Amino acid sequence: MSEAAADCLFCRIVAGQVPAQVLRRSARTWSLQDIAPQAPFHVLVVPTDHHRDIAALTSADPGLAGELLAEAVAVAQANELTQGGYRIVLNTGAQAGQTVFHVHAHVLGGRGFSWPPG
Ligand code: AMP
Ligand code: ZN
Repeated sequence: MSEAAADCLFCRIVAGQVPAQVLRRSARTWSLQDIAPQAPFHVLVVPTDHHRDIAALTSADPGLAGELLAEAVAVAQANELTQGGYRIVLNTGAQAGQTVFHVHAHVLGGRGFSWPPG
């Protein structure tokens, strides 16, 4: 589905029903400060349309999936993460750590990251 979901946290943020720290907006995305940052820089890029994960988004609207990635890179570049490097993460499914089932890209930077991920 692409319309807002009433019980979805990120749909409620985009609708102005839940406060959030908005870093920037594009035509179809919002970039929010993560409420529980896992790095000195931790921003979530959230499409305004509701799709439960990157698989649903890519299937329904591949153009918007591309915009989401492009905006995640733009957020990193605008915040000078390119020199030290950064990580873009799309947790997909509960076992992978997804807790909010409205697709979002984490943009993390400002420290080193280990591999493999935990
Ligand atoms: P995930 O676990 O990949 O689904 O990511 C969900 C992210 O949303 C987590 O990093 C949370 O810290 C973050 N989060 C939860 N509630 C809020 C909120 N109200 N504002 C901003 N970020 C939030
Ligand atoms: Zn939603």
